[in-house]
Amino acid sequence: MKAALALDYGKLSIEDVTLDPPRAGEVMVKMAAAGVCYTDVSVLNGTIPMPVPLVLGHEGAGVVQAVGPGVSSLAVGDPVVLSFIPACGECFFCDHHEPHLCAAGSPEGRMLDGSSRLHLGSRDIGAMAMLGCMAEYAVVPAISAMKIDRGIPLDRAALVGCSVMTGVGAVANTAKVRSGATVAVFGCGGVGLSAIQGARLVGAKRIIAVDMLDSKLEYARHFGATHTVNAKDDPVAAIKELTGGWGVDYSFEVTGKVPVMEQAYAATRRGGTVCVIGIGHYTESFPLNACGFSADAKTVVGCMYGNTNFKVDMPNLLELYLAKRLDLDAMITRTYRIDEAPQAFEDLKAGLNARGVIVF
Ligand SMILES: [Zn+2]
Ligand SMILES: [Zn+2]
Repeated sequence: MKAALALDYGKLSIEDVTLDPPRAGEVMVKMAAAGVCYTDVSVLNGTIPMPVPLVLGHEGAGVVQAVGPGVSSLAVGDPVVLSFIPACGECFFCDHHEPHLCAAGSPEGRMLDGSSRLHLGSRDIGAMAMLGCMAEYAVVPAISAMKIDRGIPLDRAALVGCSVMTGVGAVANTAKVRSGATVAVFGCGGVGLSAIQGARLVGAKRIIAVDMLDSKLEYARHFGATHTVNAKDDPVAAIKELTGGWGVDYSFEVTGKVPVMEQAYAATRRGGTVCVIGIGHYTESFPLNACGFSADAKTVVGCMYGNTNFKVDMPNLLELYLAKRLDLDAMITRTYRIDEAPQAFEDLKAGLNARGVIVF
């Protein structure tokens, strides 16, 4: 089957790979759609170090094609959304109601038992987040898949697997934005636009979108931004001007760039919350002033998967979609075939899409 893989760091390739049948506790999913997320780029270029070769893709939806021994939660024919963090239900974090940090997640690209189901020629290769869903089929742990109602378009549902859960969750769960608050979102890709939708859903009064591209700011307005700031201008000054000189109550950093993290911090009022979603290079640090930090009394919080519980939040978000309160339709601005994955990655880096989605 065809798969988009990081053959080496920086080398994206569409290859014919073989996939083993599901083992105990696993299911095979015939992929319908896989979103193209900046985290795929970050893994491809080594910003997030994972062993290569690795089949990319961690935001997907499809239909269960086969179930391995011992799987009772899913059956052949079930439509599912994949979660890039499993929920094992028995680790320290799952026990502490933090399944978004589930210890069963695999940064090494191997399955729960440490082996691989994917092969390139005679060589074992990895699957990003135990999913590797930029492929025609994926074998995934059953604890990484959520059955959804039939009739929900699977390309829309796929977005819930990463960007929408992360963005909406960052606002609702991680930062706990209250209604009437002022919010700034730095970076208007799929996650940032979802954070904007989340801020709209929780009733934020003022939602300021910041991006380098006017086209992204147009998207941001569509999804609920009340104000837009082109980051080429001084975004901190612009945000302060829009907030009586104080700064926003909550800022969300969704670019993974340290200078933008610093801007998000500076644009947040004293006592406000800075939520960092973007993932920078693993060698970089985000410095905080040792003198001002306590006096500013800001909360800086890292956000993993929007502090969501996918078994609860995926159905909730899809219900909001069906109720037309969460716009997933307009998120998909272009679809690609698997052969066009390199173009999809280039378009992502150029910021052309709200979300590009590979469809099968
Ligand atoms: Zn993602
Ligand atoms: Zn767990």
